[in-house]
Amino acid sequence: MSEVRVRFAPAPTGFMHIGNLHTALFNWLFARNQGGKFVLRIEDTDEVRFTPEAVNVIYEGLRWLGLDWDEGPDIGGPYGPYIQSERLELYQSKVQELLAAGKAYECFCTPQELEERRQMMRARGLPPRYDGRCANLTEQERERLRAEGRTSCIRFRVKQTGKTVIKDIIQGEVVYDNSLIADSIIQKTSGFPTYHLACVIDDAAMKITHVIRAVEHLPNTQLHLQLQEALGIEPPQYAHLPLVLGPDRTKLSKRHGAVSVVEYAKMGYLPEAMFNFLALLGWAPGDEQEILPPQEIIKRFSLQACSASPSVFDMQKAEWMNGEYIKAMAPEELARRVLPFLVEAGLFEADPSPERMAWLVRVCELMRERVKRLTVFTTWARYFFTDEYEYEQRARQKWLNREDTPQKLEMLAERLQKLQRWDAESIEEAVRGLAAELGVGAGQVIHPCRAAVTGTTIGPSLFHLLELLEQSDVVSRLRRTAALAAGGQLRPAQEG
Ligand code: GLU
Repeated sequence: MSEVRVRFAPAPTGFMHIGNLHTALFNWLFARNQGGKFVLRIEDTDEVRFTPEAVNVIYEGLRWLGLDWDEGPDIGGPYGPYIQSERLELYQSKVQELLAAGKAYECFCTPQELEERRQMMRARGLPPRYDGRCANLTEQERERLRAEGRTSCIRFRVKQTGKTVIKDIIQGEVVYDNSLIADSIIQKTSGFPTYHLACVIDDAAMKITHVIRAVEHLPNTQLHLQLQEALGIEPPQYAHLPLVLGPDRTKLSKRHGAVSVVEYAKMGYLPEAMFNFLALLGWAPGDEQEILPPQEIIKRFSLQACSASPSVFDMQKAEWMNGEYIKAMAPEELARRVLPFLVEAGLFEADPSPERMAWLVRVCELMRERVKRLTVFTTWARYFFTDEYEYEQRARQKWLNREDTPQKLEMLAERLQKLQRWDAESIEEAVRGLAAELGVGAGQVIHPCRAAVTGTTIGPSLFHLLELLEQSDVVSRLRRTAALAAGGQLRPAQEG
């Protein structure tokens, strides 16, 4: 068989939907599994024309996930250009061929006329579609319409009898009745091709062997197959990927929260976790294993193992998987990934000294087990980096609002201030010593202390956490909290 060639063909909307990245990933996986080529093509004939910024959004989304392309607008390739608005001559010459063969015709109907006729069809209970008014005009009639000052688009004469059978690798055999389609515009009055024409011509010109795309495009394939036949093109193989749904089982959209790739990066998702997560949306490795390195996914990937039924984008699972990747990550690497988030939040210097970096590595080592997303460090675990943290409701309720808390915190501050050595062991000794002196369990000191110094009720080993903070900061946080609590300022907020 000839070399596998697939393409990812996004419109440059300036926005990369997570569903688009999913399509890109499946194409890439198939290409890499087969030792084939992954082509990037920008489809800018239907919507906005490309801008460098909008194309950059696509490059960045792909690069973020670790997908490289073998041919594309930036690196060229044997079948370029890879931006459709730069290929107009090719499309126009094919349109001329179709016109000459009588397989396409000029249509002079105005948008308003079309709309009026559609409305009439609706009123009569008919499906609103093109009625073929210009399908059989004589040259004289065309001349007359041109003389009226009308412009024309080009329509493809579809075959309306029989059926179109699509043999889809994922969806199986899908049959569409040809009576359902009407003559379709292939070249607009502007001279630009429509998506359908450009896509079919480019897939052939770029020697694409497998078209792997979202299932929304399955109905378009009926027209694409007819166009291919008219143009004498051997159709590629088709594989339509299942829908990606939100948790409520409707198509994943903004309503469900983040949908753009950038947002996931901003929310602290690791690209390698997202790679793994997206790969499992609609594809299964064949066993129960869920955490799979890219090489393993590439090795095991096949279109046959993709499911035809929709898959649900489960945010909790995405978080869980992200957490698994973070746990498995070397603390040095984790620190490197966390740093930009801290810098952005103004919690860390952009160019830290080796000592500061080593300290951050220790923070990451301590936190690694409990981190689901990188943003944890700028939200609830911000206490490592700043005295400005919130006292959570639970911390107020359980510990900070108790009558004996201010005094306990004061006493602890006193003891900790006196420590000669600031390490976990000495801190633990001081905390336990105080508990013994007060005749209470150690928890009765540990919990209020955590609530005071971090504002939270859960976290890593308190003694190791305190060790990573400055002794003087811990002491002043204890005193500050004691004063606030004594002043009644840490009462739980009224609920509801
Ligand atoms: N430009 C189309 C899209 O973004 C490509 C569809 C296709 O892969 O054929 O949906």
